[in-house]
Amino acid sequence: MSYILTLDQGTTASRSLIVNAKGEVVAMAQKEFTQHFPRQGWVEHDPDEIWSTQRDTMQQVIRESGIHPSEIKAIGITNQRETTVAWNRTTGKAIGNAIVWQDKRTAPMCEQLKLRGLGEYVRTTTGLVIDAYFSATKMHYILRNYPEAEKLLRTNELCFGTVDSWLMYNLTEKHVHATDSTNASRTMLFDIRKLKWDDRLLAELDIHPSSLPEVKPSIGFFGNARIDGADVPIMGVAGDQQAALFGQLCFEPGMVKNTYGTGCFMLMNTGRELRESHHGLLTTVAWSDAHSTTYALEGSVFIAGAAIQWLRDGLKIIDHATDSEYFARKAQNEEPVYVVPAFSGLGAPYWDMYARGAVFGLTRDTGKDELIRATLESMAYQTRDVIEAMAVDAGTGIHSLRVDGGASANDYLMQFQADIIEREVVRPANVESTAMGAAYLAGIAAGVWSRADLLRIHANATTFRPKMEGKTVSKLYHGWKKAVQRSMHWLDDEP
Ligand code: ADP
Repeated sequence: MSYILTLDQGTTASRSLIVNAKGEVVAMAQKEFTQHFPRQGWVEHDPDEIWSTQRDTMQQVIRESGIHPSEIKAIGITNQRETTVAWNRTTGKAIGNAIVWQDKRTAPMCEQLKLRGLGEYVRTTTGLVIDAYFSATKMHYILRNYPEAEKLLRTNELCFGTVDSWLMYNLTEKHVHATDSTNASRTMLFDIRKLKWDDRLLAELDIHPSSLPEVKPSIGFFGNARIDGADVPIMGVAGDQQAALFGQLCFEPGMVKNTYGTGCFMLMNTGRELRESHHGLLTTVAWSDAHSTTYALEGSVFIAGAAIQWLRDGLKIIDHATDSEYFARKAQNEEPVYVVPAFSGLGAPYWDMYARGAVFGLTRDTGKDELIRATLESMAYQTRDVIEAMAVDAGTGIHSLRVDGGASANDYLMQFQADIIEREVVRPANVESTAMGAAYLAGIAAGVWSRADLLRIHANATTFRPKMEGKTVSKLYHGWKKAVQRSMHWLDDEP
């Protein structure tokens, strides 16, 4: 029997899985790690803790499955994207904490880049919009604020990387400084047509190419990890959302998946064709092998399941995220209530850093149940905003939506989602699409299975069909659009 080891390094936890050649999960382990919020709008992770939690879970699954590392045919890696780490190439020591994708400290720098007229160039070259979300300005920040980084740059010892690079560097005992094209496509420094770092953007941000990882196809050999004395090849790497698209088996152009986690991330496979967005979506690399690159359109919504965490931890009106379904089903009021969860601005398709959260439609009889239902429904409305933009940008109809992620377990939400987008919503039995995607990529590269094999082993799915009357859908969605408009441009310090 051959096995795949998957490392799924997420925003809140590091996970490892052992998958057998039939695509079944044999062992899984997970460890949460610390979130650091040194200031308002700043989010950091300790790179050593990222690595130690990942290593611990990796050792645990190997132990629990009772296999020897030499039986692992390949390693697949998937990771939180954009989060940026800097380290010393010689000692392997990290320079400060990782700056997490959610971190907004470089927003003023992004304004500067926009004022310098770089928006259009960034869009056409990298497929992205200028935003603090991506790695480029985080690297620039590290260079300007950590004297050690400048010093190491002079001796050619500075390494920048996203979390996949950091893990690979540690797994290979400092031998490999590499990334894959999907992670590179989230840095705002990568030319997604030529598949190389872009000289102009590097110059604009003072980033030296010697500090950047080598970019490789997501399906292929990256290097050997040393595990208990055995060499195990790393064969598949992709950012979490791209891995989920692959894990959902969206192999054909036009197929779409939506992941309901902390945020909501919708990706559409657009095939070999790179589709530029004119409606606030991103163009990104879906995956690549030695011969070809598949592209995707992406809509990123920052707050989805996180709004449910707010109900639980902030308002304390539910004990567990799963309770939201029970209360939503109890909600009574006739007039709809809307929660716009723009807690840190709005992502796709609005991209307004100055929007803030709001509740609309409150009446004397609005209670806890209604507020909870409205918060859940905000995920579905945001998803409709993105799917509409995507259908226009892709120029194709979207027939159904494949879903995964923690909140996709909520049946109330999934039915409402089908109703509000007036399309089928399909939830696979195994919603671990991200981790499975990384396993699939590595397994394909290692010859364990083909795409056709994967389609055959795909388990049953639940389908939610739209039931709501068209007139009701239009009325509800019209109210949502109004609510969004009124929450936008809220902060006064907008330029
Ligand atoms: P991530 O990978 O971003 O950490 P997960 O895919 O693990 O996220 O999903 C966790 C998120 O989903 C949390 O924000 C949580 O509030 C939300 N969530 C989990 N279960 C439910 C549920 N049954 N209903 C609504 N939201 C849920």
